[in-house]
Amino acid sequence: MSAGHKSVAGVVFNIQKYSVHDGPGIRTLVFLKGCTLACRWCSNPESISPKPVLAYNPAKCIGVGECGRCLEACTYGAITQDGEGRIAINRELCADCMYCVKACPAVALTVYGQTMSVEEVLGAVEADAVFYSRSGGGMTLSGGEPLYQHEFAVALLAEARRRRVSTAMETAGNVPFERLEAACTHLDVLLYDVKSLDPAKHKAGTGAANALPLENLRRVRKAFPGLTIMARTPVIPGFNDTEADIRAIADFVQELPGVSHELLPYHRLAKPKYGYIGREFPMGEAALEDGLMARLEAAAALVRG
Ligand code: SF4
Ligand code: SF4
Repeated sequence: MSAGHKSVAGVVFNIQKYSVHDGPGIRTLVFLKGCTLACRWCSNPESISPKPVLAYNPAKCIGVGECGRCLEACTYGAITQDGEGRIAINRELCADCMYCVKACPAVALTVYGQTMSVEEVLGAVEADAVFYSRSGGGMTLSGGEPLYQHEFAVALLAEARRRRVSTAMETAGNVPFERLEAACTHLDVLLYDVKSLDPAKHKAGTGAANALPLENLRRVRKAFPGLTIMARTPVIPGFNDTEADIRAIADFVQELPGVSHELLPYHRLAKPKYGYIGREFPMGEAALEDGLMARLEAAAALVRG
């Protein structure tokens, strides 16, 4: 990585501080835009497009009668009044100029995603350095798929290493192996999603085959024998929530030396964000039945022995 990597820039949609769930210790999560999958249950739907995305929260809108500044700001005719005195956005007409966001006094209109340099991101991350050294934490890259913007991701990891900030990255692994390899060179912990061993289910749920992510995990394990790798399975109703599904995944992980495995229960916290960006929530009212996680944990534990 050249000395110029600090000026490399990418699109970030959130920097979340004080996380204790995504790698060891207290961590700062840096969420990069863009993804190579389209999971039906995605908890960050604002991440999927690589570009900044306009968001509208009607609960914060003052109302067109009292305000209406966004209608004046939009010269594309993409904003109209809805039947309840608030606004409707025609996303076909929207040109992503974001003038309406600047005009909105109530922060009802916002943008998911801003271009940041490596230097800017690491500046925000290092503001919490005192927590990292005490807790064993550091920076975790997330997304979307952080390796969608692979040059930016690798530059962030390299610069964090140079500043002695511990590094972790979440990935679904559905990327060319060379991208993973470049990132792992600068990683302390790799958090790797294993969603389903069933090719047809994986394709139906995520939009992509599972062969590449599974093979990439095997290859990473071999190529980086000293790297801490934690496999994680989001348990999704109607997708992989049977004991047979979880046993198959646990079997696969068990074959990989030194790779731990954790089940993460599905939740619906992302539902409002779908509305903000003008999308239907694809999972509807689906939920995990009571007691299921305990049964699946037990099934996975039996495989681990
Ligand atoms: S981003 Fe620009 S084009 Fe789109 S709704 Fe706002 S002002 Fe109109
Ligand atoms: S500018 Fe903001 S608060 Fe005013 S009408 Fe538009 S969305 Fe609502």
